[in-house]
Amino acid sequence: MGKYLDTHYQSIHEPEVFWAEEAKRIHWETPFSQVLDYSSPPFAKWFVGGKTSICYNALDRHLIERANQTALIAVSVETNTEQTYTYQELYTEVNRMAAILKSYGVSKGDRVLIYMPMVAQACFAMLAVLRLGAIHSVVFGGFASHSLAARIEDAQPKMIITAEAGMRGGKVVPYKPLLDEAIELSAYKPEHVLMVSRGLCAFETTPNRDIDYASERNKHLDSLVPCVWLDATDPSYILYTSGTTGKPKGVQRDTGGYAVALATSMDYIFCAKPGQTMFCTSDIGWVVGHGYIIYGPLIHGMATIMFEGTPLKPDAGIWWSLVEKYKVSTMFSSPTAIRVLKKQDPQFIAQRDLSSLEAFFLAGEPLDEPTAQWISSAIQKPIIDNYWQTETGWPILALQRGIEVMPNKFGSPGVPVFGYNMKLLDDVSGKELPAHAKGLLAIEGPLPPGCMQTVWGDDKRFVSTYWQGFEGRLVYSTFDWGIKDDDGYFFILGRTDDVINTAGHRLGTREIEESISSHNNVAEVAVVGIADELKGQVAIAFAIPKNNENIANLEKELMRIVDQQLGPVARPSRIYIVEALPKTRSGKIVRRALQAIAEHRDPGDISTMEDKNVLIQIQNVISQ
Ligand code: AMP
Repeated sequence: MGKYLDTHYQSIHEPEVFWAEEAKRIHWETPFSQVLDYSSPPFAKWFVGGKTSICYNALDRHLIERANQTALIAVSVETNTEQTYTYQELYTEVNRMAAILKSYGVSKGDRVLIYMPMVAQACFAMLAVLRLGAIHSVVFGGFASHSLAARIEDAQPKMIITAEAGMRGGKVVPYKPLLDEAIELSAYKPEHVLMVSRGLCAFETTPNRDIDYASERNKHLDSLVPCVWLDATDPSYILYTSGTTGKPKGVQRDTGGYAVALATSMDYIFCAKPGQTMFCTSDIGWVVGHGYIIYGPLIHGMATIMFEGTPLKPDAGIWWSLVEKYKVSTMFSSPTAIRVLKKQDPQFIAQRDLSSLEAFFLAGEPLDEPTAQWISSAIQKPIIDNYWQTETGWPILALQRGIEVMPNKFGSPGVPVFGYNMKLLDDVSGKELPAHAKGLLAIEGPLPPGCMQTVWGDDKRFVSTYWQGFEGRLVYSTFDWGIKDDDGYFFILGRTDDVINTAGHRLGTREIEESISSHNNVAEVAVVGIADELKGQVAIAFAIPKNNENIANLEKELMRIVDQQLGPVARPSRIYIVEALPKTRSGKIVRRALQAIAEHRDPGDISTMEDKNVLIQIQNVISQ
């Protein structure tokens, strides 16, 4: 691993030299004067003095060489549509969208919330916002009104861009009524809502606030809007993620560092080439979708596929037929999706020509060995696990085959990516641990380019949540347990906090508990994550009713509340109605014991528990 080790060493010990070289991958309107300013840790400023635009790097820059090359392929198996846009066509649509936003006053630094299904206009919207130097906050379509309202209040968007509905599994999933409800709930009100009407269902319009995209677009067919050049350190987007408190955190990303990090990752990690096609099956509402459906492939001059639908419709061959049809070179998905496909007839894969495909990447949750083995033998391509977080914006651990071909080890997402100074620490003393010892996976500051700059509007929360002081130095906590082998490969052993990872999506147990508690007959509730064969982990809840009358339908009512407030993505798979919760003598709920019982394991040491009979009662409820 000589070349990898040298590259990684340089990226940590001479970051200025390393990143100055990688920064040449993008266009700088004004060159930077300082590669890194870490004078105020843990706040790292990359490419200080430089001016650039992510939209320019994703579009305008390619027009000379790639105007007629495909940039975006929007496939919906739900509406049975496929639309292809060349770089020139995508540029034109983004300019039209930017002109609409500009005509309604969106300008540098304004926030624009995007609550959209996987349609081409969502891509236009993201790029148009960045073209104007504004900041987008994309909210996943699976979130409902309360989650949306919390994000509206925190980001205070001048405008919200939405569609009346998405579709999933043949069903229309309305967006507009949830958005209207969220705006109603929010103390802050956006000036305008730009409506992309797909003709899927009727919706109500609020006069003077709601604007129709199609008619606005007609007014701006020939509009060209110049890119606003931002400082490299200006924010590009906010993306909310769950943590241990009920309030989601707005992960704030910069501009120059993010563009450089993505461009570098496309080469060294994804080994992709300009002109090739990338198919990332995530959603634009997640960090993987931001980086590897939209910005990474476009900055790299590739074609990218946006996919609305499930991997099983019209049949389990859909993804592979797209690989064949669009000659996909680079695919990126999640272990849960592969576990879904694993149950289907392997003929769906075997009958397709996958010769264009060079590698298959998986991230977001632990990749179990049977799933990795199955997909590896089904498609006969390298399977590359990679580990990262919403906060980092791009991979932390991965094989970096663009630097050097390294052996794959099942169960490990690989080795530290260039720029990440990874440590396994004793969580109490902060001492670095040797190989084979389980420790807290931490990153020694500064975080590399492209990582979270701060929590939106809350520098204090950024420092207090993520940075731990050990022996006079600050380290970033990933909140994951890990272990390292003798070759320097890392293995992830699960979260150190109460965050659940279900189908690769992060859910905070606190948020779900708060939602369930809002029912007027709930006295107390605890939510834990338990192992699930398909989704890796699922949430389950234990609720104590205030009174035992009318509780026959309580589980259903509580599920409905979570659906309405947070969205189906957060719905626990079961909500058990119980009489008491296991607690320590000091009154803390012993979640570890709840989890063990629900997973049919021994609860272990329960000597600190106040009433051991509670566990027996709960066991009875579960086995009923
Ligand atoms: P999110 O920010 O929603 O992407 O969730 C990040 C969390 O997902 C990490 O802190 C890990 O707990 C988990 N995770 C992401 N990728 C992997 C992976 N390749 N292997 C194991 N866990 C992962």
